[in-house]
Amino acid sequence: MSLTLESSLMINEEINKAECLSDLNNIIASCNRCSLSKTKTKDVFGSGSEKAEIFFIGEAPGKEEDLRGEPFVGAAGKFLGEMLKENGLNRNNVFIANVLKHRPPENRDPLPEEVDACWPFLEKQIQIVNPKIIVFLGRHALNRFFPSLKISEVHGRAFRKSWQGKDQVFLALYHPAAALYNGSMRETLKSDFKKIPILITKIKKTLKPQQKKLI
Ligand code: SF4
Repeated sequence: MSLTLESSLMINEEINKAECLSDLNNIIASCNRCSLSKTKTKDVFGSGSEKAEIFFIGEAPGKEEDLRGEPFVGAAGKFLGEMLKENGLNRNNVFIANVLKHRPPENRDPLPEEVDACWPFLEKQIQIVNPKIIVFLGRHALNRFFPSLKISEVHGRAFRKSWQGKDQVFLALYHPAAALYNGSMRETLKSDFKKIPILITKIKKTLKPQQKKLI
């Protein structure tokens, strides 16, 4: 589907005007910027607290998510929920979103043009939530922000970058779906995940802008 430049600019204007997640969700629900709008069952906006300190970003909704309209509700979501609980967190005090708001058919990888089309929604979600840390779940999320980094090399490492006019902290983790049935990757993810509360404490207490390496 090709959207006219004028329609695309109008959507961008609406996104800019959104003052809260509910405003943004209304725009996502009527978005037809890419062909996924034709095959979706439900919109998968993202879920959690609008004031969350931790903002998780996955890849795209899968079958379960598309049916229920919520991110990370299948087996990988259950695993994510367990890790949140183990670290004193829950789905209501973090925010969980995906790079794409609608499911790619047969769970194929997101196409670059879909990621580009959907990007302003994710940017605006992050701007509204204003988290202390952005946590990438898997390579698709990581590479949207840092195209040259490899998840196998940077998982568990936090780094900072000036982003959206602020000094933002990022942490890359393996995707729970990739780690779910892989014994060693699963343990690595659980171990990396434990760094999140430590980082939040550090960010709140001691961090100086010039510090590059957090953990
Ligand atoms: S995936 Fe994103 S860009 Fe594509 S139709 Fe859905 S909301 Fe719009």
